Amino acid sequence: MIKYLNVRSRQRNEFIDITQEVEAALKANGIEEGICYIYVPHTTAGVTINEGADPSVQRDIINSLARLVPQDMEYFHREGNSDAHVKSSLMGASASVPIEAGKLVLGTWQAIYFCEFDGPRHRRCMVKLING
Ligand code: ZN
Repeated sequence: MIKYLNVRSRQRNEFIDITQEVEAALKANGIEEGICYIYVPHTTAGVTINEGADPSVQRDIINSLARLVPQDMEYFHREGNSDAHVKSSLMGASASVPIEAGKLVLGTWQAIYFCEFDGPRHRRCMVKLING
């Protein structure tokens, strides 16, 4: 079963909590055990799992990535968004979460974030539920 989430980013760099939407896709599907595979089909965005309780953590990750990969460094890629491509690879294009008893096995403080690095844009995020 595959579901695409529509994600609307509003800033150039932004983490968007998609945990509720992923959980809703799982609930609608009714799988009891398996793997939830989240995939971002974009080269300037990504997905990561990290703390959802304190919004400062997302800001710290975004600020840390900005220091690691400055937007105005000299890059070969002429589109002007090389930092976004590098950040996309650092976060990764996919994440997997185990499913047990019909629920995502996330730690108390964990949330699933769509990571925007070249917004604002309309994006898609695939949620594939694998029974087993
Ligand atoms: Zn580019």
